[in-house]
Amino acid sequence: MAENDIITIDGPSGSGKSTISRLVAARLGYTFLDTGAMYRAVGYKAKKLGLSLEDGEALAQLLADIDLVLAPGDGDTRVILDQEDISLAIRTAEMGLVASKVSAQPVVRRKLTEMQRRLGSRGGVVAEGRDTGTVVFPGARHKFFLDAAPAERARRRCLQLREKGQQADEKEILAQIIKRDKDDSDRTLAPLKAAADALIIDTSALSIDDVVALMLRHIAKTGENGGKRS
Ligand code: C5P
Repeated sequence: MAENDIITIDGPSGSGKSTISRLVAARLGYTFLDTGAMYRAVGYKAKKLGLSLEDGEALAQLLADIDLVLAPGDGDTRVILDQEDISLAIRTAEMGLVASKVSAQPVVRRKLTEMQRRLGSRGGVVAEGRDTGTVVFPGARHKFFLDAAPAERARRRCLQLREKGQQADEKEILAQIIKRDKDDSDRTLAPLKAAADALIIDTSALSIDDVVALMLRHIAKTGENGGKRS
């Protein structure tokens, strides 16, 4: 696998990952791989079919013939499931929690990790998620982990949801963020954590442009082998 041409950007929700990953990918001419959108799509389908989000067998069946396509969009990645555009429907606070639930199921992680590796196999990819640097692409050339104070992340999430025309209560979003972080960090399989060789950036007091510039400088400085010994 051409993992040397892969950049991973992990971190909790609201850390700025998606926006920043998209910008870094555009600047480098790489493809942006939004792995969270894939977990959201699986959660969406499970909900639609009325499945229990903890029923591994039912989820395995759902995944066996899943027809999931990710395509570049104006802003967020376009997500097409069974030929239906679900891009907007999956980007709600509720779908974030649903995605977090299904993402703890081994069968879901196995299948999506496999799909993500296939999508990254040609290299030239910026992968964004929770475990892209630790599990999906452990040999990636450059790894980043973005974080920010929970209150700041809640503020950003609210703005994002409101921009999409959804209602958002900052207190409620903060509580959801704290719960999702805890569930994502506590799970045994592929928990949310920085890879040992990731550059950790606290984005609380930084603008998006600052973070992108910092990352591009780091990529240019560490160059070909990501600063790793060959
Ligand atoms: O990044 P986003 O908020 O879209 O992710 C939704 C949920 O999907 C996360 O809270 C997490 O539980 C799960 N996820 C994951 N591994 C990834 C990406 C997302 O477990 N690589």
